[in-house]
Amino acid sequence: MKSHAKVVVIGGGVVGCSVLFHLARHGWTDVVLLERDELTSGSTWHAAGGMHTINGDPNVAKLQKYTINLYKEIEELSGQATGVHLTGGVLLAATEARLDWLRGVVAKGRYLGIELEEISPKEAAELMPLLDPKQFVGAVRNKEDGHLDPSGVTHAYAKAARKLGAEVERFTKVEDIVRRPDGLWRVITNKGEVVADHVVNAGGLWAREVGRMVGLELPVLAMEHMYLITEDMPEVAAWNQKTGTEIIHAVDFDGELYLRQERGGMLMGTYEKANKPWSEYQTPWNFGHELLAPDIDRIAPSLEVGFRHFPAFQNTGIKQIINGPFTFAPDGNPLVGPVRGLPGFWVACGVMAGFSQGGGVGLALSNWMIEGDPGADIWAMDVARYGDWAGMAYTNAKVRENYSRRFSIRFPNEELPAGRPLKTTPVYDLLSAKGAQWGVAYGLEVPLWYAPEGVKDEFSWRRSSDFSHVAAEVATVRAGVGLSEISSFAKYKVTGEGAAAWLDRMLACKLPKPGRMTLAPMLKEDGRLIGDFTLANLSPQDREEGGWFLAGSGIAEQYHMRWFEQHAPYDGSVHIEALGQKLTGLSIAGPKARDVLAKATRSGTSNEAFPFMAVGKMDVGMAPCLVGRVSYTGDLGYEIWVAPEYQRAAYQALMAAGVEFGIGLFGSRALNALRLEKNYGSWGREYRPIYGPLEAGLDRFVAYGKDADFIGKAAALAERKQGGKLRLRAFIVDADDADVIGDEPIWFGGAVRGWVTSGGYAHHSKKSVAVGYVPKEIADESDGFEIELLGKRHAARMQAAPLFDANFERMRG
Ligand SMILES: Cc1cc2nc3c(=O)[nH]c(=O)nc-3n(C[C@H](O)[C@H](O)[C@H](O)COP(=O)(O)OP(=O)(O)OC[C@H]3O[C@@H](n4cnc5c(N)ncnc54)[C@H](O)[C@@H]3O)c2cc1C
Repeated sequence: MKSHAKVVVIGGGVVGCSVLFHLARHGWTDVVLLERDELTSGSTWHAAGGMHTINGDPNVAKLQKYTINLYKEIEELSGQATGVHLTGGVLLAATEARLDWLRGVVAKGRYLGIELEEISPKEAAELMPLLDPKQFVGAVRNKEDGHLDPSGVTHAYAKAARKLGAEVERFTKVEDIVRRPDGLWRVITNKGEVVADHVVNAGGLWAREVGRMVGLELPVLAMEHMYLITEDMPEVAAWNQKTGTEIIHAVDFDGELYLRQERGGMLMGTYEKANKPWSEYQTPWNFGHELLAPDIDRIAPSLEVGFRHFPAFQNTGIKQIINGPFTFAPDGNPLVGPVRGLPGFWVACGVMAGFSQGGGVGLALSNWMIEGDPGADIWAMDVARYGDWAGMAYTNAKVRENYSRRFSIRFPNEELPAGRPLKTTPVYDLLSAKGAQWGVAYGLEVPLWYAPEGVKDEFSWRRSSDFSHVAAEVATVRAGVGLSEISSFAKYKVTGEGAAAWLDRMLACKLPKPGRMTLAPMLKEDGRLIGDFTLANLSPQDREEGGWFLAGSGIAEQYHMRWFEQHAPYDGSVHIEALGQKLTGLSIAGPKARDVLAKATRSGTSNEAFPFMAVGKMDVGMAPCLVGRVSYTGDLGYEIWVAPEYQRAAYQALMAAGVEFGIGLFGSRALNALRLEKNYGSWGREYRPIYGPLEAGLDRFVAYGKDADFIGKAAALAERKQGGKLRLRAFIVDADDADVIGDEPIWFGGAVRGWVTSGGYAHHSKKSVAVGYVPKEIADESDGFEIELLGKRHAARMQAAPLFDANFERMRG
């Protein structure tokens, strides 16, 4: 075994081998994979080997498509058969709600280049002869489904990597990992030590244990999973003989089942409701090629449905039941990327669909390690989407929920209950008493809307029980004044003698003067967005709060801290702190917001004393607060930042001051309706690391001419010159009873040309709004667009100027 390597990959399952292959293919050949046993000694060997392109996140779906297309290449490169059978498949709906969901999947497929086609149950039965069409209301055909040989694929990756110069050391168990003072990693094994620049944790079933070696508690948990294999079935033989083809894959969502042919019989697997975690605290090191004891009672309810939906199963015997463990992250997507605070330590774990996702994970990670960027939008897989709050108990609750809901519909207005409430702010009970309906962001409870007694969300693809109540919240803001909780924003304090110079390099905006704020896009080297913030330069008298204050997307706190720390100087001249819930927030907005604030504070609130984009300390009631005159509602408004011990006092002072002005509460759904009519985008939707500031309409906040050589400047200037490829645009949709939720295709001239990033109903303007990207060539057309919603194309008109306060009079007045 070599004593030094550029990269040590820990784990020889399908994921580790894919990472190794991609690193080598990308030119890093001084790489070694360490496997404690034979390759495939974790989850990989007993997988059912199914592969498919469908994923709830379009960017993950793209990487799944990449993975499936890769098998031919690694087979040719390695000379190792992968056993790929691209049979195609059918996705089955037994209810109308499921069919609506499937139509959304078909629509998404249109701009992802995934060929999906809605078919009738009868047509589905013609493709998959074992199903009873009477049990279904519709189906979708997917030509890119199939199955493969898990061991063959893993060995093909490893052999191809070896051919490119990578090394594989089997029977080499990593026992400890130690970071040296010079930043290199000592990887200590039962056969000696390898010193490496980078370490990749692809430990699969043991990823948690490998993480613990460096003090990391990764949010992964293994679950038991069962599938059965039948005896040979005459129906299968007859079909094979008649058509000369295999029986295609089927996913029966309502039965929570997946099926495919296995030799002369069938394989049927299920994600049962009565699921069971495996090795909740510690994965035994002596586990390897064992299977777990099958428990047919646990999967009996699903099998019962399966036997009804696929009657031929009633006449056959079960040859074998496989029960094996594999790992999940709380939301079921992989955990990939560099780990904050551990430079050179990377993860590629929690991959629950290794044969659909392993290639994409390897590609993204190798790009990231070698180029400094994953090369694709992989937020849905980024390990930084979780923070310390995703501990072991939370992960356990969430993984179990996710497993049991693997094939369940999640409606756009459906909030999932497991692992909640976890983080709450001091006003939680006060808002609950007013009917707050809670959602969650980065582990924190956030008020979505306020329901009268006895009313709650009815889950639906269409406008639902909250519609009129959210409309009333919007009206409260636009006609008078509303108060909302905004603690879910990420808040950062940046101090130190080097803070200004550092911010000038990190952020693309011009730095504001003391007592002022500005919108601050943050770019990567390639000129694409990696963040958007409100940056405040605090006046000298307010400096105890920290010299600079940043507010940004709450879900991206860990993501942004990782980026900040990767780019912070080593000399201690800059200190960046994520304030988390050490600072909570309230916001008031609407034409009467200034009257309310004036009544609650002794500080000056006139437009002269405290103009738009001013920031400063003031007491609200008796609570010391940091107040900024800005509002995401696009109205006159204030963001009020307050230490948690004062949040109730500030809240009560504002509510009391607001009585005479008719103050009311509003939640994040009303806020969405308000920001849509101002064409304001949001991080994670409109602003993502695949768009440039010109494309995203943020270039007016980019100080191209400032002296500081900010990150991404050259690339952003080049984009400005060339004009970029896309444009973010708002559309008014001729909708009926449903509004866009995001990821719908935008049609123009009879073809899909763009995609929706977000939208909803703008209650004040009484318009259904969709926001999304289209190619710049058609970005100035006003008509001729259509947006596909629940399988139907609706006419859409481009809305260039904001529907509300296009001249910014309300906001600035
Ligand atoms: C019953 C069942 C059916 C499944 N069906 C499918 C399916 O149809 N399609 C699909 O895509 N996925 C399926 N899966 C999931 C699939 O198996 C996993 O997604 C995949 O195997 C994960 O691969 P991995 O490389 O991340 O982890 P693993 O396969 O667990 O590999 C991790 C490797 O790391 C090694 N290792 C760990 N720690 C160390 C250490 N300290 N030192 C050295 N080596 C170490 C282990 O020995 C192991 O070989 C199924 C899983 C099960 C259990």
